[in-house]
Amino acid sequence: MRFTYHPLPHRVIFGAGAISQVGEEVRRIGARALVLSTPEQRSDAEGLAAAIGGSAVGLFTEAVMHVPVATVDAAMAHARVLGADCTVAIGGGSTIGLAKALSLRLDLPSLAIPTTYAGSEVTPIWGLTEAGIKTTGRDSKVLPKAVIYDPDLTLSLPVGMSIASGLNAIAHAMEGLYAVDGNPIVSLMAEESIRALVHSLPIIKQDPANAEARSEALYGCWLAGSVLGAASVALHHKLCHTLGGAFDMPHAQTHTAVLPHAIAYNAPAVPEEMKRASRALGGGNPATRLYDLASGLGAEMSLARLGMPRDGVAKAARLAVANPYPNPRQITEEGIARLLDRALEGLPPLLG
Ligand code: NAD
Repeated sequence: MRFTYHPLPHRVIFGAGAISQVGEEVRRIGARALVLSTPEQRSDAEGLAAAIGGSAVGLFTEAVMHVPVATVDAAMAHARVLGADCTVAIGGGSTIGLAKALSLRLDLPSLAIPTTYAGSEVTPIWGLTEAGIKTTGRDSKVLPKAVIYDPDLTLSLPVGMSIASGLNAIAHAMEGLYAVDGNPIVSLMAEESIRALVHSLPIIKQDPANAEARSEALYGCWLAGSVLGAASVALHHKLCHTLGGAFDMPHAQTHTAVLPHAIAYNAPAVPEEMKRASRALGGGNPATRLYDLASGLGAEMSLARLGMPRDGVAKAARLAVANPYPNPRQITEEGIARLLDRALEGLPPLLG
């Protein structure tokens, strides 16, 4: 066995009601916090600022998907005027992405309070979008200093978004199992993450207010994010990134529809890892199992119905092979086009 493992330094506070610790957690990282959210979660941000008290100096509630540079510029100007020395981000990957951009450009440390299952809060990955092009990178200074996981805050996440976001998290874990720089700890986290999410998502679908299932899903999402933070991604994530950029597709939903196909494509090259995935998924062929799980939970499995143009397959396949990256199986334009043809129509994955 040979591997490299580089644990990331951050603090995690997990549990129902953990949000009550926000004041003391903020004071560990700064004295003048700027609270961030999307416009939809403005009232959450206001409540949070009130709970933080004197250490909260203002709000910026204009976070949007994919971290546009114009939004970052506006948030930076606001942070400077207020003399903020840290940020508190409440929301999903979009809001946490804005906090990361402020860490990158202004060196402001952040406290993240995730309310979706995206997992960004425990990764050193940042993204910025300018003129329609999203640039991403890794930098340890964007990793939030602390994360408060309070499952009560996910109770309001609509069922459809919970399912898509949960499957987005499963995608991080699946690719961690065969990552070129994976290691035994990453695989343990990945397997446990998949198990927790596969168990909790069907319960959430039936009973969105089930506190135990919400807690288990958030735990699975923490592990999935930790996998994403510690290991490289491959075909699945690169393909979703390509589709998102080329056709402006919804993030978590695109992950959901592509995942079974990307796993079916890579499976022949990683039989041992697929045994592990099968175990975590409760048995069976992992690609088929992921397709049945997602469609059984009512997720949209057709990329066309998610906004991909029907004549977009050739362009996406061409883009997908343009910048080579490590993947367990060789990536060919024809192979990707075949995979996308099926995902476009929402058909089950092609095995073998
Ligand atoms: P999001 O943050 O865009 O949130 C979607 C919508 O749901 C927003 O309007 C948000 O305010 C709302 N919302 C969030 N939590 C809610 C709740 N509990 N109740 C009601 N509404 C709620 O969605 P996302 O899927 O979490 O994040 C997607 C973005 O995150 C993408 O840009 C993606 O690239 C990025 N991402 C980054 C990383 C990373 O490591 N850098 C990892 C995963 C995702």
